[in-house]
Amino acid sequence: MDYDLFVIGAGSGGVRAARLAAQSGARVAIAEEYRVGGTCVVRGCIPKKLLVYASEYGRAFQDAKGFGWTVDWARFDWPVLRDNVEAEVTRLSGIYRQNLEKAGVHIIEDRAELEGRDTVRLKGDLRALKAERILIAAGGRPRMPAFKGAEHCISSNEAFLLERLPDRIVILGGGYVAIEFATIFSGLGVETTLVYRGNRILRGFDDELRDFVDAELRRTGVHIIAPGDVKELARTANGYLVSLADGAQIETGLVMSAIGRDPNTSDLGLEAAGVAISETKAIMVDAYSRTSAPNISAIGDITGRLGLTPVAIREAVAYFETEFLKRPTAFDHSDVPTAVFGRPPIAAVGLTEAAARQKYGEADVYKTNFRPMKHILAGNEERAFMKLVVHPRDGRVLGVHLAGRDAPEIVQMAAVAVKAGLTKAQWDATCALHPTAAEELVLLRQKT
Ligand code: NDP
Repeated sequence: MDYDLFVIGAGSGGVRAARLAAQSGARVAIAEEYRVGGTCVVRGCIPKKLLVYASEYGRAFQDAKGFGWTVDWARFDWPVLRDNVEAEVTRLSGIYRQNLEKAGVHIIEDRAELEGRDTVRLKGDLRALKAERILIAAGGRPRMPAFKGAEHCISSNEAFLLERLPDRIVILGGGYVAIEFATIFSGLGVETTLVYRGNRILRGFDDELRDFVDAELRRTGVHIIAPGDVKELARTANGYLVSLADGAQIETGLVMSAIGRDPNTSDLGLEAAGVAISETKAIMVDAYSRTSAPNISAIGDITGRLGLTPVAIREAVAYFETEFLKRPTAFDHSDVPTAVFGRPPIAAVGLTEAAARQKYGEADVYKTNFRPMKHILAGNEERAFMKLVVHPRDGRVLGVHLAGRDAPEIVQMAAVAVKAGLTKAQWDATCALHPTAAEELVLLRQKT
């Protein structure tokens, strides 16, 4: 055997597993066909959040007036932002690489495909390498639509590297990526239209949060067409023409597809290795991330469980503990907090009101909708929304759903209490921290 562990994919999950295994004394290699860091670092969470920060300044300059500031020189320069973000991505990718090297992981910059239960073939130099264990952490990629002219769409991958910002953009989809990029582009001054196939964006989130974000995006200038069904996309002299099934047409400078992500399972040699995939082309794994092939495991987006960076990392740690420390550990995928960095950001942990009602027959709900103090002086109409979903009988807080500034920061801590199963009475026993928005969460007394 050349290695004790061969990891395919140097994203958040793969890097963590490789480092832990190497630090424990195993001989480890990691293969990456693009850039070390994967989706999160290179073309996802990190560059996205930097763009979200950038998109918030326009409104912040306006808000500043109410606080006595005069800001009449503000001007936005896309190439400066794009290049600074790219430089930060390069810096972080370098840190990931250094950490791997420090741990003693052998980094292979090549595409690796399975050739059997214990063999991978490098596509560049064609070497075959053997490993005791193989971990597949190859992530996912944007799903692209199938309508006529779909090849003209960009995905989020390209959105970070645009030569110039268009005057107008049409974004397809109503999930995480669509809402975040609608927020980014409109915040940077691009006239933005969102076309979503259903009635309500952000499926999976609490219905009231979905309505709240929909209303806020519209109020702040995003055109939302829902339901909307794109039939065709054509090039024009100045850009593109989007034709919808109902006959409506939209002229635009750019079309971005954000209709979901697919697991990166094609051409990986999974069949040769006996690794089974599901109908959605995700690698099927058990609670310990083991695939149908002995000694081959899979973690992260390629398994189609919960496509979030911290989840991939926790799956990596559980994999390491199970396989290398011989301490079977299954990551618990319940009560994982999540956020969409939209305008406003939303964040949630636990059950939605609808899910709680379905599970327990009923649910107690506490909620508030208010204009944060900062916005009043600023003359900003943006509001905040908070909702607690509580078990109807034992009083446990089952879900927390927030929209507004700092919602993701607040939910990270609320998730501790939800995961610990604390009751509403215990939340109420916690003293408020004044003046904050988060204090509302321990002051909600009126059941609705
Ligand atoms: P999502 O699954 O969140 O959203 C996909 C959207 O596209 C949905 O609105 C879906 O509609 C719609 N859609 C799906 N198929 C089609 C189709 N054939 N035609 C038209 N519309 C379609 O995917 P994203 O790409 O936005 O994000 C992928 C995942 O990455 C997320 O689920 C999340 O796990 C992760 N992510 C996390 C982020 C964060 O933590 N902040 C940020 C970005 C991504 P419908 O709802 O009707 O199915």
